[in-house]
Amino acid sequence: MEEIKKRKVAILGSSGSIGTQALEVINEQAHLFEVEVLTVNRSADLLIEQAKKFKPNAVVIVDETQYQKVNDALFEEDIMVYAGAAALEQVVQFKQVDIVLTALVGYAGLKPTIAAINAGKDIALANKETLVVAGELVMNLAKEKGVNIFPVDSEHSAIFQCLTGEYMNPIEKIVLTASGGPFRGKTTEELKTVTKAQALKHPNWDMGAKITIDSASLMNKGLEVIEARWLFDLKPEQIDVIVHPQSIIHSLVQFEDGSMKAQLGLPDMKLPIQYAMGFPKRLKNNFTRFNFLDYPQLTFEAPDKKTFRNLTLAFKALDQGGNMPCILNAANEVAVAAFLDDKVGFLQMSDVIEACMNDAQFIAKPQLEDYVSTDTEARAITNRIIETL
Ligand code: MG
Repeated sequence: MEEIKKRKVAILGSSGSIGTQALEVINEQAHLFEVEVLTVNRSADLLIEQAKKFKPNAVVIVDETQYQKVNDALFEEDIMVYAGAAALEQVVQFKQVDIVLTALVGYAGLKPTIAAINAGKDIALANKETLVVAGELVMNLAKEKGVNIFPVDSEHSAIFQCLTGEYMNPIEKIVLTASGGPFRGKTTEELKTVTKAQALKHPNWDMGAKITIDSASLMNKGLEVIEARWLFDLKPEQIDVIVHPQSIIHSLVQFEDGSMKAQLGLPDMKLPIQYAMGFPKRLKNNFTRFNFLDYPQLTFEAPDKKTFRNLTLAFKALDQGGNMPCILNAANEVAVAAFLDDKVGFLQMSDVIEACMNDAQFIAKPQLEDYVSTDTEARAITNRIIETL
């Protein structure tokens, strides 16, 4: 039998929802994948447990105060232990790494992703903010380095799957589906008093706190529109959003002959994770299968952009271009953290983001250092706006 060379995976953000599910996939497909690098922000105990089980060559704990703890715990293992955010940019470059799964939260994903692309590593992209902040720069760099970017976001994976086998057939438009989140159908008046606990209860997907709040506010869909624009080289007017509360159709592509292709399945992130890591192969698994008879009604409605203003703000940022999506993203990260900290109300998040978009300095043709300074500046502005509320 032909010897299969295992694909060696670096997982950035292994303690999060995507990271832990990626490890489940690797465990189930252990004949195909092995773990080369694991990194976490602060979850030292989980990192230690994962490292003992999956035996990577290196781990990173970003929180330097916990370096000693991790290093002591893994002393008996043959594992290199690093600390600090800068180490993320080093470990992705290791010669043995074949593919880097970027499952970090927010802007923090940008620099390690760029370092991995520069080192010629394929990317399984679960960190949409990287493309929101600097999509043009990242995609151009990937092209230059001959690096593949495989989307892990379920909607973008769906589109990617629909495009596979289509050769160069142009896209007329894509339709990103949105569940609508826990507050679908609510009025502005009702949203004034919703709580953090309500926002954190997503009807279909079990995810981390930041993306769950983004889903409730529809900012997640806004970020996904920007992500899709860069991943698939589309114009903003080629991207539609439709609310589909059952989350079975994960997104669609319409081609120039009017034909639409969709990808369907139960909401389970393990499928897009596995597809990204195993591409172009579809790997046999025992995930629960979708049955139409369990879902006799798949329904669709227009998103309520007036009530959920974040989606409108994201389209506006995309239209304005330059560093505006970077400003939008930074303001949103600060606003979501403030909402989780009970410092702003649910609807105030949009007010704060819009105010920051008006105040921050616009740069039409940003370079990498401009994105870095824009992120810092927009965070400071947003914090100031929140303090004066
Ligand atoms: Mg998504």
